[in-house]
Amino acid sequence: MNSSLRKVSFLIITIIVLPVVVFSLFEIGNLRQNEKIIQDIYRNQLNAILYSINQYSDDVISSLAVRIENSSSEINSPAKTDLSATIKELPSVKGLLQFDNKQKLISSVPESCCDTIVLREITRMIEQNKKIITQLKTYLQGGYRKIQPVVNPSGNLQWIIFITHVRNKELTNLLIIDPVKFISQVLDPKIQEIAKGKFDIAAYRAGDELPFYTSNKKFKAAKIDEREAFWLLINYRMGIGLKEITIADLTSGRLKRNLIIVGIMDLILLFGAWLIFRNIRKQVELSQLKSDFVSNVSHEIRTPLSLITIYIETLEMGRVRDEKKVKEYYSVILNETSRLSGIVNRILSFSQIESKKRKYSFAQSDLNEIVENASMSYGYTLENRGFKYIFQPEQNLLPFKADKEAVTDAIVNIVDNAMKYSIEIKEIIVRTGKSEKHVFVEVEDKGIGISEKHQKYIFDKFYRVTEMNLANKVKGSGLGLAIVKHILDAHDGRITVKSKPGQGSIFRLSFPVN
Ligand code: ADP
Repeated sequence: MNSSLRKVSFLIITIIVLPVVVFSLFEIGNLRQNEKIIQDIYRNQLNAILYSINQYSDDVISSLAVRIENSSSEINSPAKTDLSATIKELPSVKGLLQFDNKQKLISSVPESCCDTIVLREITRMIEQNKKIITQLKTYLQGGYRKIQPVVNPSGNLQWIIFITHVRNKELTNLLIIDPVKFISQVLDPKIQEIAKGKFDIAAYRAGDELPFYTSNKKFKAAKIDEREAFWLLINYRMGIGLKEITIADLTSGRLKRNLIIVGIMDLILLFGAWLIFRNIRKQVELSQLKSDFVSNVSHEIRTPLSLITIYIETLEMGRVRDEKKVKEYYSVILNETSRLSGIVNRILSFSQIESKKRKYSFAQSDLNEIVENASMSYGYTLENRGFKYIFQPEQNLLPFKADKEAVTDAIVNIVDNAMKYSIEIKEIIVRTGKSEKHVFVEVEDKGIGISEKHQKYIFDKFYRVTEMNLANKVKGSGLGLAIVKHILDAHDGRITVKSKPGQGSIFRLSFPVN
């Protein structure tokens, strides 16, 4: 990597890659924190719903307490009849016992509500909870009726104590309710209203894994996110969860989605950074190739020019008398002049291609004829440089549409390269051939060959292989194959190369026949 590329890489890493990495790490940390906050908010909301169910239960019993107080206050009607009608309003109530200030039982509805054993238990409980009862009375005097559940040691029914104020007396009420009925009949409508198809709400007996009540028939136990005790029902708990998904799944799903988005954005940014780097690298390489091109071309022009100058000066001085020698000098001058014009033509041709000004005029042509014409321009040089030249034409080639001059240029370029890059075995075979839809011309040499890693670049403008000694020594512009490829593209044709370092190369130019 050269120094300007190193600088660019350093800049890209510090301006794009590092900020992207730091920002992503920061974002990922933030996302996790946000998800935790969202999870807490969800949990608080679910807790608030459970709280509202407890609040509702409390309200139901409080309003029953008010009605019981009012029924007991009716002077003209027999209190018991009223009380039993009042407590029947709430389906889950099994009975109500009232005690006076001295903890003496003064009424029980219905009368059959409790057998003697239960009654004894209740009386003992009232005795034991005197302190609580005094507290409840104090609350009531302060304007607040507290509903107090107490443990029922003799069964599953729930005992609830509250105080009523009847005709200047404070009565202690013991309400006996069936918790299962209370939940599934009294609380159910409210629970359904709250759940509204969004939540699953369930009720459990303490210690049970499975609920005895659920707001939704297709309830799944694993979806319960929060649990809370019933305020009024000792040993009963309620649970709530989101209907379709648990909070953990919901937040982890969101987290995953957000992480994926951050990941994709990072990839896009890093891909962009890589694209920028690749483009800059290409430009740097191209400018390097261009500067190599200028020095190569100057060399290429300088050598024939100085040869021409030397030979003309020698001839002009009239020092060479030998006729044979004079002829030889003229032929060198001719050779070098045609080399010079070849270089200039190539540069002109390339500049026409670059400015998209090169025009082609196509006509039905015969490939063998084009090769034979081309061989006239390189035949002399081949012979002069001691090359063995073999032409193997395929008979009955179909005609194809070609700009003859351009195709000749292409073939001359390829043969020229074959000569330039052959040292030991000086043999060039040119053959034509056909496939189903193409005619082709192949130029085979036994020269230095091209390694595979370079083969895909040799058709790029200015590209030259400099790794082998000869390739390095031979002067060139790196334009020849780029021009050939352009000519082939204009003919909808293809140029391919088969080559092995040290063994030679075969370049094939194929043209479509229709
Ligand atoms: P140049 O003016 O350098 O010959 P070209 O575009 O014609 O430019 O060729 C590009 C490069 O491909 C050459 O520099 C050379 O390394 C390689 N090349 C082309 N033809 C041959 C060949 N017949 N044998 C070996 N190498 C070749």
